[in-house]
Amino acid sequence: MRRAREVDVRAWVASAREGSPRAVARLITLVENSHPALPEVMAVLAPHTGHAWLIGLTGSPGVGKSTTTTMLVRAFRDEGLRVGVLAVDPSSPFSGGALLGDRVRMSDHALDTGVYVRSMASRGHLGGLAAATPQALRVLDGAGCDVVIVETVGVGQSEVEVTGLADTTVVLLAPGMGDGVQAAKAGILEVGDVLVVNKADRTGADSTARELRQMISLGDRTQPGMWRPPVLKTMADRGEGREELVAALRKHRDHTRASGEWQRRRVSRAEREVEAIALARLRERMRGLPDGSSLHEVAERVAAGDLDPYAAARQVLDG
Ligand code: GDP
Repeated sequence: MRRAREVDVRAWVASAREGSPRAVARLITLVENSHPALPEVMAVLAPHTGHAWLIGLTGSPGVGKSTTTTMLVRAFRDEGLRVGVLAVDPSSPFSGGALLGDRVRMSDHALDTGVYVRSMASRGHLGGLAAATPQALRVLDGAGCDVVIVETVGVGQSEVEVTGLADTTVVLLAPGMGDGVQAAKAGILEVGDVLVVNKADRTGADSTARELRQMISLGDRTQPGMWRPPVLKTMADRGEGREELVAALRKHRDHTRASGEWQRRRVSRAEREVEAIALARLRERMRGLPDGSSLHEVAERVAAGDLDPYAAARQVLDG
């Protein structure tokens, strides 16, 4: 039984690397469901990972993330690069289909085997999005994507966490509605390596861009040698600003590679990934301790005064 599964895992990874969208889909489904074969999948994938450039894209609903992703996919495809897109919605972890409507717009790439697009739900995943997202990214990376765009809906802390995983993060805003101030409050600006005011055809784009530049100049990223996030304006629906955006992304990549920040980020990404997996494992173990008792039973003894909480925690950890 175990052997048969192992053979499957190797075969799926091999097909994924040959560009089979179906194999990639199957592997990501294993991630979503926290399938028992996942550690095996990750072990087989590991030697093939580390190549892809991970680009995070975040912003409030409706700012143009999907449109911008399409624009970027086209730009990278024009260069002959293999592109993966992972759309994650931290606000609705239980509805895998939430972003499917948006994905329809990606349909001009539907017949292009150089592009793989996937919306991901984290339902059922032990470590939630924090563990599922990096694993799905590993699948796309290991499958041979040169660039992977991870698109998250901007709703607060959760997407800051997810987006912080990327090598280069784009924060997308639209003119007006004090979006810049909102973003600053939510801590989104801090994760942005490139800030984009999309819908530049609308009034207020210039003042939003100005507002953002001001906030950056007041921030703590003004020291010499530090990357200073550029503020760009785009009209993603007509592809305007595409070259400037791609150039800014490349500039960030080159800058962080030269400064060592690239590697530091990758290590801290791996650190968070390992931590999420370990914590998930621990939580799983607490539900049923190896000696047959459960956390609940240990807790009952603590509540009754038969056991102190430190001894109980030790029992849980050592168990
Ligand atoms: P998302 O929810 O952030 O993924 O946003 P979408 O990419 O779905 O875009 C939301 C709406 O804004 C769509 O109707 C797009 O066609 C439109 N849109 C995207 N870019 C622009 C732009 O530059 N200008 C204008 N006026 N509309 C845009």
